[in-house]
Amino acid sequence: MKRFGILRSSKLPLRLILIVPFVLQTFAAVSLVGYLSFRNGQKAVNDLADQLTSKVNGLVEQHLNTYLATPHQVNQVNLAAIKLGMLNLQDYDLASCYFWKQMRVFNIGYISFANPKGEFIGVERLDNGHLLINEVSEKRTIGKLYVYSTDNEGNRNQLTAIKDYNPLLEAWYTDAVKMGRPVWSQIYQWEDKPEIFSISSSYPLYDNSQNIVGVISVDLLLTQISDFLKNLKFGKQGKVFILERSGFIVASSTNESPYNVIDGKAHRLSVFNSQSHTIKGIADYLQKKFGSFQKIQDTQQFTLQIKGARQFVKVTPWQDKLGLDWLVIVIVPETDFMAEINANSHTTILLCVGALIGATILGIYTSRWIAQPILHLTQASSAIAAGNLEQTVEISGVKELSILSQSFNQMAGQLNDFFTALERTNQELEQRVELRTKELKTAKELADAANQAKSEFLANMSHELRTPLNGILGYAQILQRDINASTEQQNAVKVIYHCGSHLLMLINDVLDIAKIESQKLDLYPNIFNFNDFFLGIYDMCRIKAEQKDIIFSYQISKDIPTAIHADEKRLRQVLLNLLGNAIKFTDDGEVKFSVDVINPDLLAIDNHQGEQLSTSKIRFQIEDTGVGISLEQLQKIFLPFEQVGDSFRKAEGTGLGLAISCQIVEMMGSKIHVESHYGKGSKFWFDLDLPKVADYVSSEVPHLDKCSNHIIRYKGTQKTILVVDDISDNRAVIVNLLKQVGFGVIEAPNGKEGISKAQEYQPDLIITDLGMPIMNGVQMTQDLRSQPEFAQTVIIASSASVFSLNRKESLAAGCNDFLPKPVQAEELFAQLKSYLKLDWVYEDIKIPQQISSENKEDIVFPPATELVNLYQAAKAGYVMGIQEEVNRIQKLDNEYVTFTNKILNLIEDFEDEAIVEMLKPYLA
Ligand code: ADP
Repeated sequence: MKRFGILRSSKLPLRLILIVPFVLQTFAAVSLVGYLSFRNGQKAVNDLADQLTSKVNGLVEQHLNTYLATPHQVNQVNLAAIKLGMLNLQDYDLASCYFWKQMRVFNIGYISFANPKGEFIGVERLDNGHLLINEVSEKRTIGKLYVYSTDNEGNRNQLTAIKDYNPLLEAWYTDAVKMGRPVWSQIYQWEDKPEIFSISSSYPLYDNSQNIVGVISVDLLLTQISDFLKNLKFGKQGKVFILERSGFIVASSTNESPYNVIDGKAHRLSVFNSQSHTIKGIADYLQKKFGSFQKIQDTQQFTLQIKGARQFVKVTPWQDKLGLDWLVIVIVPETDFMAEINANSHTTILLCVGALIGATILGIYTSRWIAQPILHLTQASSAIAAGNLEQTVEISGVKELSILSQSFNQMAGQLNDFFTALERTNQELEQRVELRTKELKTAKELADAANQAKSEFLANMSHELRTPLNGILGYAQILQRDINASTEQQNAVKVIYHCGSHLLMLINDVLDIAKIESQKLDLYPNIFNFNDFFLGIYDMCRIKAEQKDIIFSYQISKDIPTAIHADEKRLRQVLLNLLGNAIKFTDDGEVKFSVDVINPDLLAIDNHQGEQLSTSKIRFQIEDTGVGISLEQLQKIFLPFEQVGDSFRKAEGTGLGLAISCQIVEMMGSKIHVESHYGKGSKFWFDLDLPKVADYVSSEVPHLDKCSNHIIRYKGTQKTILVVDDISDNRAVIVNLLKQVGFGVIEAPNGKEGISKAQEYQPDLIITDLGMPIMNGVQMTQDLRSQPEFAQTVIIASSASVFSLNRKESLAAGCNDFLPKPVQAEELFAQLKSYLKLDWVYEDIKIPQQISSENKEDIVFPPATELVNLYQAAKAGYVMGIQEEVNRIQKLDNEYVTFTNKILNLIEDFEDEAIVEMLKPYLA
């Protein structure tokens, strides 16, 4: 599946992303256009300035060429006229008239002639345009200039002035004489009008002998060139000026005079002294660049920064054939053009700013237009994520966003439906769970009540069954003690006792299972002699094994602790169950019982009384060569009421033994292991960590050979025992048992009477029932314990209610021990011995010969006709019927005694199935 990652680092808002690039783009585009247009403008300005300066320069050059050619032309005309004799320069009137006429034609300042004698004739143009005739002649006075005004025909009007004047001192004359050829004079001031600067074109005149005859000259007024320059209109501040190579200004378009008046005398103005910063700046620049103006040979074109303003400058050398060598300098300030360009630039910048603002506003609106719906979508999806599913977004305008909003609404709707359905399902589920919980609760209450009822039923049943059993077993035990009874009677009592015991065993097993199921089975550890414990077990099993004619081997490690702390009764129950099964399911071979110490010293454990007991790990193992258990059967054998294998063996058990044993071993912290091979035998084992008791003083345990049946009395003085029980049969059992061995017995039917009897007789020991009318055993015990005289008296509770609660209650009330009903003489005598420190005296008896060794071959069977009733009774499990048949057969013939004894033995062990199997072959 493809996963789409989200760039968590970019947290820029959408509007910014939309606006910024848009604005930047617009800004960049506008700026670029502005810049390019500015650059283009500048380039255009440069081109324009070039063109303008070139054009102005051309005009100036053209004007100079034309203007400065005029004097030569006039001179040459006059020279030709003289040579042709058309002009007589001796005739001053004619000459002045001739010159006057020429002055009217040509725009020139002066036409004159002077001869070496100092005579002079010339026509002068005044500023107002009038022409004057000036004359120095020998006729009048050499050195005196006579000035005449003229009429319209060039005739002298009147003498207006007589001035001192020597033409031979004038530059126009001297230069031409000196050079001996036509020349331009230097720029000079008029002697009589020093403010007028002019330049003269002078031609020396020679006679045939090359003697100087005189000089003719035409003057040009430099102001006329300046006027021309001033009239050249180009740009607002464009300037043009003409320089001599010496640096003196010839003419200028500025208003500055090309001369300075110092002490009333006019001096030509050097360009370096010009008042115009621009002109002076350019002169300085050229001077600096070329060293002197003389060195500028070619046209120079450049721009110059003067006082912050850029100037386009064109410098062009101008020469003519007669030696004039000037520089024409045209200046155009950039501002003339740039004003427009700058104005344009300002407009461009304003337009840029305007466009930028416009673009930004447009961007903001556009981005809002796009971002607003997306924002709505975002808010709606956040709300959905927060659990608010009722969301719709309406977007119109942008097609794609509108489609997106529709899809979103659809999705939100589906989600809403889904969650609503989910919630409904949840609610339904909750309701169902609630209902089920209620049902379960009710069921549990019912089950608890049923369990309680079951427990109560079992307790009551157990109590009710035990009470009559107490009588049956009690009296059977009493009768067994009757040594005068016949064998037949003894056998009958035995049967009663075994029937009762078997019933008791069943009751106990069912009770144990009930306790296990309701987790009320408790362990009551006590300290006991381990070896004696095994001896007791051995004795019980040996007899059974002998009866079945199988070997019972017994191997107890010599390392086992002398005494241990454990629940002796339960451990015995487990071992007897396993050994009983092994013997029961083995017909040939042997049953092996071994006890080994696996680990002698384990970590110390607390025995709940603050003592630290070190423990031994001990393995109990029971191995047989019996029928074995199949793999399938192995799965079931630990389950309650499960019996597997041959049906005739099932009758011998309840199917509870292993289930109970298994639980007990688990409570002791271990597990029963089993290994079995079908048809070959089985092995059961378990390991227990058993606390060792170091300083244990062994007490004598009644041996089966010396069982309670054979106790006849005890040593020492007579002891008095008070028996408190509301049921007289129960009392009678105990009273009989006690009296037989010599105790003094007092009886009481309830606790209240028990107390008064106790006070009256001060018994050595009290045996009391628990449930009694008027005052129960617990109350009585508490009452007695509160009296100092009974604080130490041994009180044994005896009850058919054998649940741990009764036991605990009685012990808590102050009882020393608990004796379950039906009372077992064995147990009763053991407790009496222990608490009263008794020494029993036994009857001397012979152990009767066992019949177990008898073989089938030795048994004489009655004929089949005699066996039919017996077979039927055995098949029905009808013990009394079997008993009757046995008695009848016994009487038929003495040779059937082994047969009847064998049947009686089998009845004792409730092996009615075995009887059936035994008889089957003889009935065919
Ligand atoms: P039961 O009272 O029938 O002996 P248990 O719980 O003691 O009940 O045993 C359950 C079943 O396990 C027995 O009925 C028997 O089939 C099988 N079983 C137990 N021990 C052995 C053994 N040593 N050999 C063969 N089968 C056994």
